[in-house]
Order: sequence, then C-alpha cells, then structure tokens
Amino acid sequence: MALITCPECKKKISDTANSCPNCGYKLTPEKVHEIKKKEKATNPLALGCLFLIAIIFIFYQLDFFSTSDTSKPKIESPKTQEEIRTEQIEKHFSAWDGSHRGLTQLIKESMNDPDSYEHVEPVYWDHGDYLTVKITFRGKNAFGGVVTNQIVANVDLQGNVIEVLSRNN
Ligand SMILES: [Zn+2]
Repeated sequence: MALITCPECKKKISDTANSCPNCGYKLTPEKVHEIKKKEKATNPLALGCLFLIAIIFIFYQLDFFSTSDTSKPKIESPKTQEEIRTEQIEKHFSAWDGSHRGLTQLIKESMNDPDSYEHVEPVYWDHGDYLTVKITFRGKNAFGGVVTNQIVANVDLQGNVIEVLSRNN
C-alpha cells in the first residue's frame, strides 16, 4: 500500500481505498494509476528546475555569461571586478599599517637601523600587469637622526619587487 494525494481535497490517502475518506472522492484503479504517474512526474521535474536554477546561479557567479564577448568592456558589474582586483592587490599590503610586505623587507635590508623603520603612507598605481608603489617611511640614518624617506618601485601582482625606480635615503 502506498499513499497518494487526493485530487479533490489534497489529503494523503491510501491507494487501495475505493473513495477518499475525507471528501468522498471516488477512486478507481485507473484514477489511482493516473495520480501516481502525475506524482512521479512532478517531483523530478521540480528537482530538475531547482538544479537548473542552481547551475545558472553558479555560472552567473563565475561571470560565465559576461565573458562570452571579451571585446566588449564589462559593464554588468564593474564594481565587483574592481573590488576583486583591489582585494587582490591589497593583500600585499599589511592590514594594520598599509605597508607593502615585499618593499618593507627590501627597505629594512638597506637600513642602518631596521628596527627604527616606521611606515608612513603607501600610494600605488595599478598598471594592469604590475603596480608602481610609492612608500613613505621614517627611519634612523647613519647618524642616528630620524629622517623621512621615499621609495618608488614596481611590484608584480604576487607582491614581489620587480624594480626600484627611485629612493632617497
Ligand atoms: Zn479527498
């Protein structure tokens, strides 16, 4: 015995009953067969729809639809793309003072007193393949005086220093 849904009152009833105990709807083996067929057909269809929606949603998240035409500039979600890029770039900068990790190491290696290093302010320009980063920092010079210095360098998107363009210390 299995349960089917009464087409009249939508209550679950036995497929062996001659009529619905709730509303009195007459059941014949043909009707029961038809109801069962419908119930079987409905559930996978509903699941299939959900699955399809999930797939579309995932592709949408992956930017699947907007990358099909690469010649067109993306106008669908420029903010999100920008945010992703900013996030990618800013992970090379220290979260607490904004100093560039690779550059800080380079600066400290060349300082008289690396412990006196004090990061002031980073500025960067995004060139696509690489960034130009300008770091302002303070540190003790050979005479023990604290001086403010600047270093400008190109760094790659992995955070490695490619080339030091200028430094004044
Ligand atoms: Zn009924």
